[in-house]
Formats: sequence, C-alpha cells, structure tokens
Amino acid sequence: MNVNAPAVSTRLSCPICHRLMALKTSTFTHFCKDCDYWGADLPVDIEGAGSDEDEISDVAYIASLESLRIKNFALILKQLKKAKPKAGLSILDVGCASGLFMRTAQQWGYTVTGIEPNQPLFTATKRQGLNVMDDYFPPKQDLNKTFDVIIFNDVFEHIPDVHAILEGCNKYLKEDGILILNLPNAHGLIFRFSRLLAMLGLMGPWNRLWQVMFRTPHLHYFTFESLGKLAAQHEFLAASDKLQIATLEIKGLWSRLAVNTGAIGLVKNCIAYLGTLSLYPVILLSEKDTFFVLYQRKTP
Ligand SMILES: [Zn+2]
Repeated sequence: MNVNAPAVSTRLSCPICHRLMALKTSTFTHFCKDCDYWGADLPVDIEGAGSDEDEISDVAYIASLESLRIKNFALILKQLKKAKPKAGLSILDVGCASGLFMRTAQQWGYTVTGIEPNQPLFTATKRQGLNVMDDYFPPKQDLNKTFDVIIFNDVFEHIPDVHAILEGCNKYLKEDGILILNLPNAHGLIFRFSRLLAMLGLMGPWNRLWQVMFRTPHLHYFTFESLGKLAAQHEFLAASDKLQIATLEIKGLWSRLAVNTGAIGLVKNCIAYLGTLSLYPVILLSEKDTFFVLYQRKTP
C-alpha cells in the first residue's frame, strides 16, 4: 500500500473558473464555492499502480465491485442505445482496466477499443484477446481514427488535467459522437457523510473516498452542474439528464470503511460502520454516489 501522507498543500486553482481555491476539510482537499468543485493535491503514479501490495488490495476491491459494475454498465449502454440506436458503433474505452466494460459492450454489439496505461492491467486485458492500446489519454501516439463514442468509467476523476482530456475527446470523437462520463458525485451521500465524519476528526472514510492510500487517488469531485460547466468550455452539451447509479451494497461496506488499523482504528471503523448502517434507509432515498452523463457537441 502506498500511504501518501499528504504533504503541506500548495493552493490549487479551480479547473472551471481558474481562481485559487480554499483548503477545506483536510490538508489535501480544496474547494471552489462558486463552482461547487472539489480537488485534491495528491501524488499520482499510474505506471506504479498495481506493481506491489497495491495489486492485492486493488484486485480484491475491483472483484468486490464487479457484479454491481456490470449492472451499472448495462444502465449506461441502455441510455446509449436510446441516444444512438444505430448498430455496430465504435467505442473508445479510456482507462479500460481489466476490460469489464469492453466485454459487456461487445455483448451489446459494439466494437470496442480500450486504452490502459497501467502495465499489469494492459497485459491482463490484452491476454483476453481484447483490442487494447498501451497508452494514456490523450494518447502519446496518434490513433489516426475517430470514434462514435468515448467513455470514461471511473477514470475522469483520476486524471490531473481535465482540459487535456476534453481536448483529446474533441480530437478523437466523430462530429456527431457521444462522450460519456461516469464518475463519483460530490452531492452523493457517501461524500457528504464522509465529509461530516472528517469534520468530526474521523478521517478514515474521507481518505478512503479520495483513495489517498492508492497510487492513483481521486483528484476531482464534480456534480452534474459543475461537470456541465467544464464540459461546455470544450463545446460539449449534456444530451441526457443526470443519471445516477448505486455504488453501495451492504456486503461491501465493511471493506470500504475498514481503513483504520489497530485497536483504536477498530473502534473508529465500528462507529463509521454503524453510523453508515443507521443511515442506510436515508441513503436509499438520497442522491447516489456516482452519476453519468451523455454529452454531444454544441451544434453551431
Ligand atoms: Zn471555480
């Protein structure tokens, strides 16, 4: 595990309005009140991810979420079909990881290309016979083609330069193409509840939320509205409502919260767990922790 004790933060500027943000809630999180955007000043090591103990915890984490993720991918593909019913569309899956979305989309009849910069994940995906490139996004190599759809599943929030991503999407998306962003929600109850606990001094869930202990932590938390403002700066307009998906199942809750160690850590974990359990009925009725949006280019 790569425990990145956040260093003394330099002030980050908001990617939407470009003003300097205020440090808020912890030593590494910054907030722009005007844009309702959260950013983190955490070190990123995409290539190193999965190279040591990270691999074990990451693989276990990925497996625990897999069945729920397949259900969520089906919701996304259903919306895509509604927006673009044409068969055989090409999809570029950025940060395809072990290819779960690629396999699901292939079953729906799409032609899917993946991009994955992390070597162990790239190799594992390639070995399954999937069409995957070993690169970042925007890619270092010129892809020499455009796609009907570009999708980011739990990837956008990990990449430092969100403007470079959206420029890359403009380059590699067909004129009438669709960009799909699927990412965590700053209006989600887990975000709000973790923040409340952090303000009470229980930092475990907040650090877990930002994935402080991983080599590829979360760097951004958007809302539907703040993401819309950012996307509009690159000529993308929402072609769908905010579509929310559930990421929380009771069976995975303990592993998500069990981030404190030692006897005191155990007590803190129990408080966080029971606190979250008691809120479960509220969670079911509240804004979900992940949302996705379909974007299309503004027509001139
Ligand atoms: Zn701002």
